[in-house]
Amino acid sequence: MTKKIFKSIMLVCAVVATVGLAFVLGILYRYFGNQITTELAKEAAYLSQGVEEQGVSFLEKLKEQDSRITYIDSDGTVLFDNKADVSSMDNHSDRAEFKKAQEYGAGSTVRTSHTLAEKTIYYALRLPDRTVLRVSNTQYSVIALVGEMILPFCWLLFFILILSGIFASRLSKSIVEPVNQLDLEHPEDNQIYEELSPLLGRIHKQNLEIQNQLDMAKQQQDEFTIITENMQEGLVLIDRYTMILSANSSAWKLFQAEETRLGQCVYCLDRSEDFRKSVERVLSGVHNERILKLNGNDIQLIANPVIRKEKVEGAVLLMVNVTEKMERENLRREFSANVSHELKTPLTSISGFSEILQHGCVNPEDTVKFAGMIYKEAQRLIQLIEDVIQLSRLDEEEVSHKWEEVEASELCKSVIDMLSEKARDMKVHMYIRGAEVKLCTVKPLLEEILYNLCDNGIKYNKNNGSVGIYLEDMDNEVQITVADTGIGISPEDQNRVFERFYRADKSHSKEIEGTGLGLSIVKHAVTYLQGTVTLRSEEGSGTEIILKLPKKHKEI
Ligand code: ADP
Repeated sequence: MTKKIFKSIMLVCAVVATVGLAFVLGILYRYFGNQITTELAKEAAYLSQGVEEQGVSFLEKLKEQDSRITYIDSDGTVLFDNKADVSSMDNHSDRAEFKKAQEYGAGSTVRTSHTLAEKTIYYALRLPDRTVLRVSNTQYSVIALVGEMILPFCWLLFFILILSGIFASRLSKSIVEPVNQLDLEHPEDNQIYEELSPLLGRIHKQNLEIQNQLDMAKQQQDEFTIITENMQEGLVLIDRYTMILSANSSAWKLFQAEETRLGQCVYCLDRSEDFRKSVERVLSGVHNERILKLNGNDIQLIANPVIRKEKVEGAVLLMVNVTEKMERENLRREFSANVSHELKTPLTSISGFSEILQHGCVNPEDTVKFAGMIYKEAQRLIQLIEDVIQLSRLDEEEVSHKWEEVEASELCKSVIDMLSEKARDMKVHMYIRGAEVKLCTVKPLLEEILYNLCDNGIKYNKNNGSVGIYLEDMDNEVQITVADTGIGISPEDQNRVFERFYRADKSHSKEIEGTGLGLSIVKHAVTYLQGTVTLRSEEGSGTEIILKLPKKHKEI
């Protein structure tokens, strides 16, 4: 802007200076032309008096003159000329100044030379005897004058332009300076040129509009961020060139990547073939879903194309961690297979024994034995079904149990009572040690836990062995340890005994009745009661199962 103003001022100055000089030159030229004519008239008047008195001799006596003097007879014959040979001069009756003098008494004409370099001003005066006295002088023509004056004029123009340059530079700076210092953030506060007021008002209005739009965009962005950041699912937005536009923190966590990946190609998050195929398909406009293996997790990828005006602009990738769900499904499948298998064994026995009885090929004394076997297998079946029902109940999180205050030692005593006959048969001694402690718990579940543990303690014991329940009050927790002096569990089995249907020693499991579900129920029930269970065992010496249960129930 400064440059433009500077150039404009300079151009105006140059034009004004040139036109001004030309104008002055014209006026001066015209003034000097008139001046010469007046001088010539005066000179002619002065000479005419001499000629009237003395004739041509007056003119011949005159000394060298600047102006040319011509004396012409009334018929146009040249009688005298101080600058030319009279005999060689032609008749002057056709000259305009001669004609004017003859007609009006005096007259002047101007004639320009062929070279245009100069012009001649003639002034003719008629004398009383009708002769004409003509005085003439030369003046430079305009072109000659311009040629003559060009150098000084150029210098003059040059100085004018230098001065104009300095002036224009300062002026343009002083005009632009306030514009440069405009506070566009607060345009209304600027008080410079009045002409800028409408523009500043408009900027102020636009600023307000932009601020409003920014606020709205920020609010929308914040809402979007709040929603996506509170999502458990990973969300990744990509453009049609696979560049990551946005992603929430769950997505970065799932891919174990940093936010610095923003703006990079989405394949840098997962280079697997499956992921690549999914992205390629979604960017061709096809919705697709698949399970990805990512850092040991099962991730369900749902890819939706973003279509605008029938063109795929990008895609939204939604990732859900389904590892637990998959594991649960696998467990359920395994469990169903195991249950079917475990149910089939006693049922096959029952069916076999009843078939033999049906055909009547059993001695009457053996009938009781067969009936007893059928009863035993049926009992096993009932136990198995009860255990499965119990596990299913614990699996169903919605089933609510009643939490109540329970005196732990009393519960232990009742469990010992329930198992006293079995313990007597197995010659196992049972006892309780420790303080009286109260805790808030689900009584039937805790009873089931203690029953299963004591039952195992008796089942997997030796003759004259013992099963002891130790109660300990530990500030916020109650520790219940069920210890036996039985056969113990091998270190490799210790990690697996809590699995469903797992029975440690296959040879024993055939001899000792059991479903392999007891400890699974214990683990599940303890977790439900917000406690922990640990196992300590030594083969041949015995087993200790330690429960830690909170005294108060925490709402989850
Ligand atoms: P089961 O119905 O077979 O007793 P559990 O789930 O209660 O099923 O126990 C799983 C396996 O762990 C048992 O088969 C047994 O081999 C072993 N086990 C459990 N408790 C004891 C214990 N107190 N002493 C030795 N082995 C045990």
